[in-house]
Amino acid sequence: MLSAEQALERLKKGNLSYQQESSFRGRVDGTLRQELAEDQSPYAVVVSCSDSRVLPEAIFEAGLGELFTIRVAGNVICDHVLGSIQYAHEHLGCKLVVVLGHTHCGAVHAALEGGTYGYAHRLISPIQQLVDEFSDGCMIARAHACAGARQVEEAFRRTDLSVQAALYDIVSGAVSWL
Ligand SMILES: [Zn+2]
Repeated sequence: MLSAEQALERLKKGNLSYQQESSFRGRVDGTLRQELAEDQSPYAVVVSCSDSRVLPEAIFEAGLGELFTIRVAGNVICDHVLGSIQYAHEHLGCKLVVVLGHTHCGAVHAALEGGTYGYAHRLISPIQQLVDEFSDGCMIARAHACAGARQVEEAFRRTDLSVQAALYDIVSGAVSWL
């Protein structure tokens, strides 16, 4: 199992390669699927938005069995997300969690514009708290990823889990580490 530092280096390297439009698809074959059926040891947890333009495995050039991804619109941290992180840490040995926000996020725009109701309103309410502080969608997405990372850090402060906030630019393909 990779340490948190090694895992972060691997993610950074993967994203640099992704920005250069490499054709990496990872190793996906019957032998690997069979091996992974016995055991998995993903090297990092990535919490990202469900947005169809944000694919953690592609962004970090990761193949089958390499990332434990948790996706929810607006990359909002809730108890279900924390429970998934706990599982990845305690049972799969992950030492690093990345909370990955992104530019042009629909959840952030919804928070800026207001007018949501029902389940969607509940989903974006943590982002709405940042709207008074920042007027720009990109700044809100950054602040929201940082707030999410702090929430995860707080929840797992007694463990050896490292948490990193990041922002993915959907146009350039670059991940900024916050
Ligand atoms: Zn989004």
